[in-house]
Amino acid sequence: MKGFEHIQQELEDMKKEGTFRELIPLESAQGSRVTIKGKDVIQLSSNNYLGLTSHPRMKEAAEKAIRTYGVGTGSVRTIAGTLQMHEDFEEKLAKFKHTEAALVFQSGFTTNQGVLSSMLTDQDVVISDELNHASIIDGIRLTKAGRKIYKHVDVDSLEEKLKESVDYRTKLVVTDGVFSMDGNIAPLPEIVEVAEKYGALVMVDDAHASGVLGDNGRGTVNHFGLDGRVHIQVGTLSKAVGVLGGYVATTKVLKDYLIHKGRPFLFSTSHPPAVTAACDAAVDVLLEEPELIDKLWENTEFFKKGLEELGFDTGISKTPITPVMIGDDALTHKFSDELFNEGVFAQGIVFPTVPKGKARIRTIVTAEHSQEELQEALDAFQRAAKTLNIL
Ligand code: PMP
Repeated sequence: MKGFEHIQQELEDMKKEGTFRELIPLESAQGSRVTIKGKDVIQLSSNNYLGLTSHPRMKEAAEKAIRTYGVGTGSVRTIAGTLQMHEDFEEKLAKFKHTEAALVFQSGFTTNQGVLSSMLTDQDVVISDELNHASIIDGIRLTKAGRKIYKHVDVDSLEEKLKESVDYRTKLVVTDGVFSMDGNIAPLPEIVEVAEKYGALVMVDDAHASGVLGDNGRGTVNHFGLDGRVHIQVGTLSKAVGVLGGYVATTKVLKDYLIHKGRPFLFSTSHPPAVTAACDAAVDVLLEEPELIDKLWENTEFFKKGLEELGFDTGISKTPITPVMIGDDALTHKFSDELFNEGVFAQGIVFPTVPKGKARIRTIVTAEHSQEELQEALDAFQRAAKTLNIL
């Protein structure tokens, strides 16, 4: 069909540059081992931190919800698509997060976009870390607010931007809690301190900290003992929680406002019963099976140490996201392919997702991996590196 020529040209250019990627379908359930292209491999690229995508208690809750309430809701939340279970789950989430209220969105992406695009006007300013997630960037693009970017995790740079912003009504500082490419944690205590000094609000995107950091996986705010001092906490239900969705844990006032003004909330159909029931059961799992989080951290330490002992550079990570720095884009893809031959699925991350020269294999261990599997993966890293003369 005609009309797509310029798009096709762009794709051809991407193929020449080596940035065009095919999707890689799993032929099995998500887990510590998966089947890809008919091959059994160790999974090191998912965000399934606690292995909850197949937790029996959550599957049972989802099945029961389907049998009782069907597979869909047939409406957006604000018209006829709010089930009692949506409200009960939000109440449970707010309690879990130690906040007044919580509101669930269709995904973490739409949560950031919905919150940022609705709550700020041209009288306000948003001050954002330069490496914040794409959904924060897109949310900011949709506001009429003033926009300022501070240097990555640099509190002096943040303070400079706050000083320039005194005349705005609302000043909103926004940061990822854990940064998804390097696995480093935002210096939240210092960020909160400087925000308080200038009367600014703080918003944290805890996509990679929900279920990972803090008591029972409550996130970075709880991890740093900052409960009650961060105004807006965004979390996802799609990573450690193992299902789908996002939420904002915040004040009752902001929740009520977002119900009326948060566009993805207003104009997109609510979560199916199975999704909500599984997420609700996941909070019980977080509260009652904290050993999963302990296992995640044990595995993280074992694998990070193993990589370092082999001589790999694992960057500045402080979380289960462990990058293995390679540098060159093409070599990174080759290394990922070689790891696959050796029985490990670990995707390369290259420009433009990370700066040129900073290409890496991004690994994420989960609570589901056994130490034998992780040792097997370390052996594969060693063999692949030898084949490609990397170490
Ligand atoms: N924020 C961050 C930091 C993320 O890494 C992601 C997922 N890539 C999201 C938000 C979006 O979350 P979700 O997948 O639930 O849309």
